[in-house]
Amino acid sequence: MKKWQCSVCKYIHTGERPPEKCPVCGVGSEKFVLLDAGKDAPAADKTAVSSAQKPAAQTDSPAPKPLQPAPAAPPANLYEKIIGLMVKHHAHPVSVHIPNGILPAAVVLFILAWVFDAQLFVKAGFINLVFVILALPFVLFSGIIEWKKKYNQALTTLFKIKIMAAALTATACLISVIWYLIDPDVLVSANAWIFILVNMVMLASAGIAGHIGGKLVFKD
Ligand SMILES: [Zn+2]
Repeated sequence: MKKWQCSVCKYIHTGERPPEKCPVCGVGSEKFVLLDAGKDAPAADKTAVSSAQKPAAQTDSPAPKPLQPAPAAPPANLYEKIIGLMVKHHAHPVSVHIPNGILPAAVVLFILAWVFDAQLFVKAGFINLVFVILALPFVLFSGIIEWKKKYNQALTTLFKIKIMAAALTATACLISVIWYLIDPDVLVSANAWIFILVNMVMLASAGIAGHIGGKLVFKD
């Protein structure tokens, strides 16, 4: 059986031919490269980075040297160096774990405040959301970096949903913080349910972004 690797998310498929669509990231079969090419195997996509070795040519003409992957260029500047280190050390999942711990707590506190009419919970929820807001720029930045460097800016449905979920999380968080600053009594007002709804959307979006992140990491 041949092994094919998705050049975007690195998912490995076993079979005679690559799948029509990557079951993890959704790119087409043309993005798959043959990993362990047997002698009957078709040539791997030469544009993709692959560990496949071409069989040595038995001809009179000098055999062309197998294409070597270009040596990794040294980082051009400090910015590139930092970006490289961020991707290498998984800065995106690291940064995501910080606000994702606080975000559900904020939503629960707002719901408790709404149900029990408790101002202390509103304040606690708001303080939690401020920490989320502070962490979000780094989360979004590291996410964009990872998408560019690791996934070659692939724009399949999966990545579109992930980007939209991240944008929605950030927007809902910003709306909640600004809304509270304008009207600290929002949870005892007639619009309280809309405020709670915005927070539920934020929580659901963060969950969807996390779910897709898990899918990309664990490839299932
Ligand atoms: Zn894939």
